[in-house]
Parts: sequence; C-alpha cells; structure tokens
Amino acid sequence: NEALARAESLIALTPDYPEPGVLFRDVSPMLADGPALRTVVEAMVAPYEGTFDIVAGIEARGFLLAGFAAALTGVGMMPIRKAGKLPRPAAAVSYALEYGTATIEAPGVLEGHERVLLFDDVLATGGTLAAAESLIADLGATVIGSAVILELEGLGGRAHVGDVHAVFTV
Ligand code: IMP
Repeated sequence: NEALARAESLIALTPDYPEPGVLFRDVSPMLADGPALRTVVEAMVAPYEGTFDIVAGIEARGFLLAGFAAALTGVGMMPIRKAGKLPRPAAAVSYALEYGTATIEAPGVLEGHERVLLFDDVLATGGTLAAAESLIADLGATVIGSAVILELEGLGGRAHVGDVHAVFTV
C-alpha cells in the first residue's frame, strides 16, 4: 500500500533520545501531513470497526490519534491522563518505568458497559498500554483492543497486553 509506505517514511529516526543509545521514533512529521495522518488513523481503526462504543487515548500523542478516530467513527473519546491533571480521577494505576514509576488516571465518564478501543503512538515494553487496560478494567468497562502506529517488536511488549493492532512494526 503506497499511501501507508509514504506515511511510514515520515516517521523520523532520532538517535540518542531521550538518552544515549536509544533510537527514538518521532511521529511528528507524520502527524503534520494530512494524507498520512488520515491514512494511518483509518488503518488503526479498520480491524475494530463497529466493535467499540468509545475510544480512549493515552496522554499525550494518544489524545491526537483517539480524537481523530472518534471524529472518523462518530464515537466519543476519553483522555487517559498523567497523574495530577484531573480534578477528581475515577481510577488510577501506577506502573514501572525503566527508572521509577508512573501513574495514569481516568475521568469518571464511563458507566461500565462500554467497549473501549485504546490508542497510543508507540508500543515499546507494553507497560503503558497494560496499565491503561487495567485502568479501564477497574472502571468496569471492557477493552476490546488497542491500536498503535508503531510496534517496537524486539521489546516484546505484545506479550503484556491484550489484542493490539500495530500499523507498522520494526
Ligand atoms: P512502553 O510503556 O514501554 O510500551 O512505552 C510506550 C510509551 O512510551 C508510549 O506512550 C510512547 O509514546 C512512548 N515511547 C516509547 N518509545 C518511543 C519511541 O521510540 N517513539 C515515541 N514514543 C515512544
């Protein structure tokens, strides 16, 4: 698929970020390109079409993707936030990072019967998506799957999460 290949070529490789030895994949140029952005979000949603009631995006790049997907499919969107940004979080989950821990929180917008499709930009170790899955489970709703732009296959993140669709894999 030519449009997808073009979109993938817009992901910039940034060596030694955020620390020496790490090759960071920067999706900013891909997000900035209208046709590429549309092609990629359509591809993220395609396998799940008709199977979800709401989308959720993980701060911050997941917000952009989930927002676009919500507009595309006519469902609502729930932002999953980093700790301390919501006035009254309905649920919180902490998870391990390479150094230390992080916490994500959800607003009280789910009733519990919803089927949720999760969005993030990159699947690396899977810690972030796994935490988001457990956050939504704590709220009584069901994660039907996750969609990411890019999966870093060598890190084995897929083993730690439920169904994930990655548009690109490296
Ligand atoms: P994980 O929790 O190890 O799977 O890391 C995934 C999170 O880190 C996602 O929220 C990504 O935004 C971010 N991340 C990890 N590696 C990259 C990368 O190479 N490019 C962009 N984001 C990344």
